[in-house]
Amino acid sequence: MQSSKQGIIMPNMSLEKNKMPMLEANDRIHSFDEVALGYSEEVAVLEANRCLHCPNHPCVEGCPVNIDIPNFIEHIKNKDYESAYRVISLNSSLPAICGRVCPQESQCESKCVRGIKGEPVGIGRLERFVADNHVDEEINKPVSNGHKVAIVGSGPSGLACAYELSKDGYDVTIYEALHVAGGVLMYGIPEFRLPKKIVQKEIDRLVKLGVKINTNVVVGKSISIDELLQEYEALYLGTGAGLPNFMDIDGEMLNGVYSANEFLTRTNLMKAYKDSSSTPIMKGDNVAVVGGGNVAMDAARSALRLDAKRVYIIYRRSMEELPARKEEVEHSIEEGIDFKLLNNPVEIIGENGHVKAIKCIKMQLGEPDERGRRKPYPIEGSEFELDVDVVIMAIGTSPNPLLKNSCEKLNVSSRGGIIIDDSGMTSIDNVFAGGDAVTGSATVISAMSAGKNAAKEIKKRLSNLVI
Ligand code: FAD
Ligand code: SF4
Ligand code: SF4
Repeated sequence: MQSSKQGIIMPNMSLEKNKMPMLEANDRIHSFDEVALGYSEEVAVLEANRCLHCPNHPCVEGCPVNIDIPNFIEHIKNKDYESAYRVISLNSSLPAICGRVCPQESQCESKCVRGIKGEPVGIGRLERFVADNHVDEEINKPVSNGHKVAIVGSGPSGLACAYELSKDGYDVTIYEALHVAGGVLMYGIPEFRLPKKIVQKEIDRLVKLGVKINTNVVVGKSISIDELLQEYEALYLGTGAGLPNFMDIDGEMLNGVYSANEFLTRTNLMKAYKDSSSTPIMKGDNVAVVGGGNVAMDAARSALRLDAKRVYIIYRRSMEELPARKEEVEHSIEEGIDFKLLNNPVEIIGENGHVKAIKCIKMQLGEPDERGRRKPYPIEGSEFELDVDVVIMAIGTSPNPLLKNSCEKLNVSSRGGIIIDDSGMTSIDNVFAGGDAVTGSATVISAMSAGKNAAKEIKKRLSNLVI
C-alpha cells in the first residue's frame, strides 16, 4: 500500500501486473534452465499491494481448491511470508508447482476484479513467491490412527490425496508404475517450466509425513486391485491419462515419429538432454509438432533445446482457438517456434523407413461446434509438404485401459475414463478415483482437487469403522 497525504493507505492502482523476470529467449533456447525467474521480495510486495482485499473475493471461487487468496496476499503486504504459506497450505499441498503451472488466466485470475480494467493481480506469481521463500519446517510424523489406504499413481492427484490422509494419521502407501514418483510433473512438464527439484521437494515432504512410495509397481499387472483390497481398507486410483492418441494417418509407424509423451519422457525423466545420459533420442534438424495444447508447446520448446534448427507447430485451427496457456504460446513465439496454423497433417512421408516430410492440407474455419469452437474444414487441393525428420504427435491422451482390463468390476466410460459417483467412489466399494483417470487430460490443480475431495470421503467412511 502507498500512504496518501492524509495518512490513508492506498492500494497500488497500476493497471499492469508486475512483470516476471525471464531468461532472454536467445540464451534460454540452448538450455533446460527455468525460464521464469520469480518475483523479488520488493516486486512481490508491490504486486500484493494491487490486491483490493475485496469482501466478496471472487478470485477464491475461481481457484479449484478455494485458497483464501486475499488473506495470503495480505500477509505478503505485511512481509509475513510464513503466515502466507500457512494460509495457502490449508488448501493446497503443492503451491510451488501450482504457482508455476496453473492456468491462472482461466482460473483465479480470471475472476479478479482488477482484471475488469487492466490486468488481474498476479496471484499465481505471488503464490510461487511465497512457496519458493518458505523455510522448511521440521515435519513431525502424525500419530497413526491405524487405517490403511493405498493410492495408485503418484501424479498430483495421488499426491494431494496422500497429503490429506497422511496429515491426519492415515497409513498411506502409493503404488507407482514408473521408477520415479510425480506423474506428469516429473515425466511430462519440462525442466524449463517446472524444475524437478521442486517436485522432489514436495514428494520428500510427503515421505517425511510417513507416506510410503512403492515405485516400479504396475497395478493391474504386478498386483491386482483385489489383492490391494485385502491389505488396505480403501484405494484411490489416480492413474492419469497417459495413453497417447494418434491421427491414424499413413506414415505414423515410421522411425522418427514420437508421441509427445514418449518424447517428453525421454527428455525429462530419462534426461536425454544431458551429455551424461545414455537415453537414445532422435533430435532432428527439422521437427513438426502436431497439436496446439500445452503438451505441444512443451514438446516444441524441448525439441528446440535439443538443437533442432527449425520447429513447426501444426494446428488445424487459428491462434484464437489455440488451447495452450497464453504465456506458453508467447514464450514459444519468442523462442522462434514456427506456427503453421490452419493446417492439418494428412500423411507422413518416409524414405528408407525414416520420416522425410509431412504432408498437410490447409484448413478454414466454419461455424462453432457444440463446444462453441469453430469447426475446421479442409480446403480441397491445398496440400503441401514440409521437409522434416522428426514428427511429434501431441493431439491428446486417454486413460490407460490396463486397470479396467485387469478388473472387470471397474466401470469406465466409452472414452476410457473411470466412472465415479458424487462422492468420488467407483463401481467398487471403497475404491475411489479422480484426476485425469476420470476426466481425461485436464489440469494439475483439478487433479489435486479431486484427490483432496476423495481423501475427505475416505476419511468420512473409515472414521466410522472400528479398528
Ligand atoms: P498423472 O500426472 O498422469 O499421474 C498418474 C500417475 O499414475 C503416473 O505417474 C503413472 O505412471 C501412474 N500410473 C498409471 N497407471 C498405473 C498403474 N496401473 N499402476 C501404478 N501406477 C500407474 N496442467 C496444468 O495445470 N498446467 C500445465 O502447464 C500443464 N502442462 C502439461 C504438460 C504436459 C506435457 C502434460 C502431459 C500435461 C500437462 N498438464 C498441465 C496436465 C496435468 O499435468 C495433468 O492434468 C495432471 O498431471 C493429472 O494428474 P493425475 O495425478 O491425474 O495424473
Ligand atoms: Fe490460482 Fe492455482 Fe493458486 Fe488456485 S492453486 S490460487 S488456481 S494459482
Ligand atoms: Fe484481490 Fe483480485 Fe481477489 Fe479482489 S478479486 S481480493 S483484488 S485478488
